[in-house]
Amino acid sequence: MTSRRRLRRAQCGNKVGHETEDAAWTHYRGLHQRTGYSGAVVYRCRWCGRQHVGRMSQDKRKAMKKKRGY
Ligand SMILES: [Zn+2]
Repeated sequence: MTSRRRLRRAQCGNKVGHETEDAAWTHYRGLHQRTGYSGAVVYRCRWCGRQHVGRMSQDKRKAMKKKRGY
């Protein structure tokens, strides 16, 4: 069984919530410039309704790996 609380923590929890998508992208650009962080997406959180910067879901990455033929 999937725990809603665990889901919330993974997708929201300790992340910064941005009011707008623009603010989230600005945050992401800053991260990228400072740390080289990449491969992230901005998504609207279904828990708090704000925009978060985060990695793509495991499922999507698995699907991409399959496509590349790993
Ligand atoms: Zn959230």
